[in-house]
Amino acid sequence: MSNYVIASHPQAAIPVAGSGDQFPVRRIFCVGRNYGEHAKEMGFSEKEPPFFFTKPADAIAENGATIPYPPLTSDLHHEIEMVIAIGRDGANIPAEQAMEHIWGAGVGIDFTRRDQQIAHREKGRPWCWGKAFDNSAPMSSLQPLSALPDGQKTLDNGQIWLRVNGKMRQQADLSDMIWNVRDIIAFCSQAVTLKAGDLIMTGTPAGVGAVTAGDVLEGGVENIGEIKVTLS
Ligand code: MN
Repeated sequence: MSNYVIASHPQAAIPVAGSGDQFPVRRIFCVGRNYGEHAKEMGFSEKEPPFFFTKPADAIAENGATIPYPPLTSDLHHEIEMVIAIGRDGANIPAEQAMEHIWGAGVGIDFTRRDQQIAHREKGRPWCWGKAFDNSAPMSSLQPLSALPDGQKTLDNGQIWLRVNGKMRQQADLSDMIWNVRDIIAFCSQAVTLKAGDLIMTGTPAGVGAVTAGDVLEGGVENIGEIKVTLS
């Protein structure tokens, strides 16, 4: 075994609900505009194939964290999203086999520097500075699919919500997603080989908006998980 020339970094990981176990995180893929009402509020109306962007695994912040308001923005937005955790590698996965590749699910916040995202989008530049920054992906613990109630194991239904300082800002149902988790995996695995440890953030419902230092964000997906973070 060769020596690393600098100290190797810690493995990004998320706790598994109800156990001391951890899920080691490899990459984070995120789906854009996957709820019709959110696409509309962002100025888009056509149904289009899902598109993806990424965040680094070390953008994860743990549930309960206090997060400093990030640099380079004065318009930090919350996006509550169901997160799926890939447990088995695969490329070109057919939608009908996609559930076999999902280990479990959780809930996360896709924090977005909306001013940066839109400025870069208008110039035809990448979204990275709008989406991929420190602490931009707070995550709940993960539930194994096997722990979910019958009727929800396909991740097709369940309330999703986000409150800021106790006030409801986003509220929808997973059944409102334009592309379900099986379609998302089919599309994503056409572009890259999905690997065990990858996470996919499945898009946010309508109601995104700005938050500021001092705000407390609390969100969840019914039976899947809850997340709370405070901005400082
Ligand atoms: Mn998002």
